[in-house]
Amino acid sequence: MNAPSTLTIAGLRTEPGEKRTGFLPVAGTALELPLTLVNGSRSGATLLVTAGIHGGEYPCIEAAIRLAATLEAAELAGRVIVLPLVSPSSFRARQAFFVPEDGKNLNRQFPGSTTGTVSDRIAHAVVTEVAAHADAWIDLHGGDIPEALVPLLGLAEGAAPDVFARGLAMAEVFGIEHLVVPGHLSGTTLAAAADVGIPALLAEAGQLGRFDETDTDLLYQGCLRVATHLGIVPGEPPPVCELIRYRDWPWVRAGQDGLWYPEVEVGAHVEEGQVIGTLRDVFGATLEHSRAPATGIVLLLWSALAVNRGEPLFGIGIR
Ligand SMILES: [Zn+2]
Repeated sequence: MNAPSTLTIAGLRTEPGEKRTGFLPVAGTALELPLTLVNGSRSGATLLVTAGIHGGEYPCIEAAIRLAATLEAAELAGRVIVLPLVSPSSFRARQAFFVPEDGKNLNRQFPGSTTGTVSDRIAHAVVTEVAAHADAWIDLHGGDIPEALVPLLGLAEGAAPDVFARGLAMAEVFGIEHLVVPGHLSGTTLAAAADVGIPALLAEAGQLGRFDETDTDLLYQGCLRVATHLGIVPGEPPPVCELIRYRDWPWVRAGQDGLWYPEVEVGAHVEEGQVIGTLRDVFGATLEHSRAPATGIVLLLWSALAVNRGEPLFGIGIR
């Protein structure tokens, strides 16, 4: 095995056995992304953990902060790089889904560019300056402020078979049983990681703008288990969880602006054609019934009364 070596990102230099915090400047913007490097005293794999790509997904942000704060460099074999708040302006603005400066969904802009707007530039900095050092990547999310969500994992179907297999092994130890493997992931961290051959796992827990300890701990412990599985954190190999695998989770979107009245709970099993909720106008008249496109589990459910055309009402995990 190689000798442990220095790790330097954005001018932040860590010797083996050292942990440092700092900021990653995003070129062409005023943004600086908080960054922690934990460089183990022994050599091993490098795990990247990102969170806060969406500003109102609080458990994932806190889980990443907790991970960065609690890891001890002297105990690690390998490195952990943590970016707990990839979109600081979304967080400060409590802006669900979109980056305030450009109105884009940051998790559709990867791998980004140096010539686009703020979202493109953040994505580019994360991929080229941080992910380039990583052997594995966990991107933490949750339901954003108007969304109820069942904790779930995601993998990129398009990854090379050996890369997919390593990502699946990470999913099996994370501690969340629902795994979505959708075929269409353009612009996401998972797609960007697949393109450069890094096994990557999407892990989502939390919902409805709540800062919830159970969901925070689920994500925090999951990251520790993956780091243990990769040999970075010392300990027994974590137990393997039997996954419930979904080949897709199609989202049904509002056909018009209205008021949304869901008729099922998130996590419910629903049959194809079943009414999931009703969109009404401000006088109570029905605008449309929204039906399940397939039999499956309601993994995502819009839970704000106000909904606008094009926003996702629900997502059904289909086997
Ligand atoms: Zn998200």
